[in-house]
Amino acid sequence: MKPAVKVTITGAAGHIGYALVFRIASGAMFGPDQPVILRLLEIPQSMSSLSGVGMELEDCAFPLLHDIVMTDNPEIGFRGTDYAILIGAKPRSKGMERKDLITENAKIFSHQGKAINDHASRDVKVLVVGNPANTNALIAASNAPDLNKRQFTAMTRLDHNRAIGQLAGKTNSLVADIKRVTVWGNHSMTQFPHIDNCEIAGKPVYDLVSQDWAIDHFIPRVQRRGAEIIEARGLSSAASAADAIVDHMHDWALGTPEGDWVSMAIPSDGSYGIEEGLVYSYPVTCKDGNYEIVQGLDLDEFSVSRLKASQKELLEERAIIQDLLPG
Ligand code: NDP
Repeated sequence: MKPAVKVTITGAAGHIGYALVFRIASGAMFGPDQPVILRLLEIPQSMSSLSGVGMELEDCAFPLLHDIVMTDNPEIGFRGTDYAILIGAKPRSKGMERKDLITENAKIFSHQGKAINDHASRDVKVLVVGNPANTNALIAASNAPDLNKRQFTAMTRLDHNRAIGQLAGKTNSLVADIKRVTVWGNHSMTQFPHIDNCEIAGKPVYDLVSQDWAIDHFIPRVQRRGAEIIEARGLSSAASAADAIVDHMHDWALGTPEGDWVSMAIPSDGSYGIEEGLVYSYPVTCKDGNYEIVQGLDLDEFSVSRLKASQKELLEERAIIQDLLPG
């Protein structure tokens, strides 16, 4: 049997964490032959709740789950970890401005970046989910000088999957037949779900849907899907967010299927005119634990303006937390 990989989850007792840990332990993230050790990190006031999650994990008797560590100490939580999934973050409270939320959460992610730098495996792969995810990933990466910034990513896979779900419903197609969807930019309302390159069962997408539908219905629906779910459930999405985390890490570690790509927010290398260093969602292919941006896609004027709008928002977020970026 392969040696177990260590997976750290912050905010593990929260809604998303609760929907996630059982799937990782069952093998959904790294496959049925890959044992895992879960290192669950929480804040002191959530440790009691976390202990209940630990009991339930034990009660599942997952053959692939070789150990569970539960702690409120980041040094222990990140020690030797191969995969770090950063979910724990403060929710926006009543009357809180976006700027206040960014500043509050930025402190959490600068500390965690330092702890990952000092204690994690040198090959650690980091996924930031806690919002504002792209900017939090930028902060964490900037506070981990001994690691490569490319090891820090943020999640736009839920937006990507939502886009596929909408297309499948509209065209009455199978999800598996839908290829080459992209979500560009920030995980926020400025994200740009983009289907110009999409194929459904080998046909160009615009044989099946109109460009007007894409602009007037599809893009806003994907952008507002989170709010739509909160309105319906009275709670934010958790199971679908956990599922997207599984997909993101699975594909990064094990690769994307031939002929398709996924969306990941990664440090920009300047591709498509986006400022280098911003954590920006691109279409990527993954192989052997690495990712590459899909190059050479044609973007019309409308698309370029959407990419720039999301970049503008990320630059504004970065300006708010500039003092937490060393150097
Ligand atoms: P959730 O598990 O529901 O969400 C956690 C974070 O994920 C939030 O920032 C949330 O952003 C974000 N998120 C990103 N994408 C999505 C999505 N598609 N749907 C929903 N959320 C998304 O929060 P809980 O409050 O249930 O749990 C948080 C846990 O984190 C708690 O157990 C708490 O103890 C811990 N925590 C840890 C902190 C730390 O590490 N220092 C600080 C504060 C809390 P958004 O709010 O925008 O939805």
